[in-house]
Amino acid sequence: MFQKILVANRGEIALRVIFACRELGIKTVAVYSEADENSLHVRFADEDICIGPARSSDSYLNVPAIISAAEITGADALHPGYGFLSESAYLAEVCEACHIRFIGPDPSVIRLLGDKAKARRAMKKAGVPMLPGSDGPVESEERAIKIALGIGYPVIIKAVAGGGGRGMRIVKTPADLPHAFKTAQREAESAFGVGDVYIEKYLDSPRHIEFQILGDHHGNVVHLGERECSIQRRHQKLLEESPSVAVSEKVRRKMGNLVVDAARAVQYTNAGTFEFLMDEKGNFYFMEVNTRVQVEHPVTEMVTGIDIVKEQIRIAAGARLGFKQSEVTFTGHAMECRINAEDPETFVPSPGMIHAFSVPGGPGVRVDTAAHSECLISPYYDSMVAKVIVHGRDRQEAVARMKRTLEMSVVEGIRTTIPLHLKILSDPDFIAGRLSTHFMERFAAKPKTSTALAESA
Ligand code: ADP
Repeated sequence: MFQKILVANRGEIALRVIFACRELGIKTVAVYSEADENSLHVRFADEDICIGPARSSDSYLNVPAIISAAEITGADALHPGYGFLSESAYLAEVCEACHIRFIGPDPSVIRLLGDKAKARRAMKKAGVPMLPGSDGPVESEERAIKIALGIGYPVIIKAVAGGGGRGMRIVKTPADLPHAFKTAQREAESAFGVGDVYIEKYLDSPRHIEFQILGDHHGNVVHLGERECSIQRRHQKLLEESPSVAVSEKVRRKMGNLVVDAARAVQYTNAGTFEFLMDEKGNFYFMEVNTRVQVEHPVTEMVTGIDIVKEQIRIAAGARLGFKQSEVTFTGHAMECRINAEDPETFVPSPGMIHAFSVPGGPGVRVDTAAHSECLISPYYDSMVAKVIVHGRDRQEAVARMKRTLEMSVVEGIRTTIPLHLKILSDPDFIAGRLSTHFMERFAAKPKTSTALAESA
């Protein structure tokens, strides 16, 4: 097992990794930017090192500074969390070269799956169902027009290197394609440094359903069931739950086995998420693989009782998975609300000092946060303040539990999305489980069409 793990992240996920390390008896090193000097992840790590100024590009994305911090402190492994460098094959390679174990899949697997066009190809080969789309990146407008015609409108243009819901364009008619194609390329170039885009069929009213997997270095792969993440705004998840009301036990087993086989086909190790869209008829279509721990991993932990971060660490250290697929059981229903520092109606960011912070506990409640009273929510980083996660015997109990938790939460000094979550939780369609990725459009400040949503994303 590792002696010391450097946590290359900030906020709640840095703390989450520190929790796992403490429980495993592993020392931790926090890295932080000048803006995060007083953060909880710095306070609770055994050692800490400042890696640069507030701007992420100078600190949390600064590979030389992070690697130096690991070398100076003698860390033998690095956990990247989510966001920042978590899907950087380059960081994983540098770690390997410096004899620091990267807690994630092999760099070649990260590279393959990080290219969405290549991932599509690999998954298609492994027998995973796909939406009709381009076979690889589309170079020219002429090709794009031809391909879109073959697929049939509407189509969606996506960045090969995409992530975080950015760089996507929905195209409803052939007349809109040339402009959308150019803009998508330009946006992809500026956001990801790679302008390549691909095209696939756009599904009108899908659910976003994803499967969590774990794979060790001894050929064992298991799935931990699905998460429903259809409640999104601008392709960013707001509320997640497990299980999905749309997935029967039979479908869970079938899709789970399919995902496990696909993971084996690309020699996937560590934790990963296979994301799918599900149409109204219940058909699944592959979207992408996230090669890291996800924000919403706690809902899976709540229903399976498996500590995903600890498993990531054990797997990276070479241990075998401690359980078989038949030993993975699902109990009750879990739900997560992402509480963001944003105006709940306009979604304008609301950074600033939190003067009072209290989220009640009680049965079945888990709060993953690095926030506390008198802490500053910095404008430099993403706006998530806390994840409130609840577990109930069934969905109805989970919803009631989430409502009472949010109703009794106190966050003073900044605006948060708590009022928005309370509206969602009281919505008749939400209560009935009638969800799709368009669910949130009715809560937008001004009614917007899906095209407008994508254009502003
Ligand atoms: P990212 O990696 O940027 O998060 P994804 O490929 O995971 O991008 O897609 C994010 C979201 O965009 C999905 O959850 C879904 O709401 C929407 N989306 C992506 N592809 C399609 C599609 N083909 N049809 C309809 N919606 C889509």
